[in-house]
Amino acid sequence: MPLYEYCCEHCDGIFEALRPMREAADPVPCPVCDRDGERIMPTTFTAFTFREGYPRRLPDKGTYWHLGKEVKSRIKGPARPFEHPELARPKSPPRRSKGDLEVAREKRHLQTKEAQRVRSSSGRRRSSR
Ligand SMILES: [Zn+2]
Repeated sequence: MPLYEYCCEHCDGIFEALRPMREAADPVPCPVCDRDGERIMPTTFTAFTFREGYPRRLPDKGTYWHLGKEVKSRIKGPARPFEHPELARPKSPPRRSKGDLEVAREKRHLQTKEAQRVRSSSGRRRSSR
């Protein structure tokens, strides 16, 4: 059965319903208020209705829509424009393997050794003058 979209004027929301093609034009009860929802054409699809100024979709799962993506919460606090924190999670730093850590330790060891060598040689040079 094809999926059709219906609009409830009372709730000012849209919902989808699977219906046989010959019944597609008939009104479908709204999942929220049970009033008749009229079928809307995909071409006249006017995005979503708004809750607290944010788009939502019926049946209302308590979620919000952000640039066509479903999100659980509104943007709170600072966020970059057009970037929802739920969708743009900061990437965790790459995990370092045991080998990498050993290489880093070795490098640090060599650096301190080198620093000590430079310090002692410059000290010698100064004393020879
Ligand atoms: Zn309704």
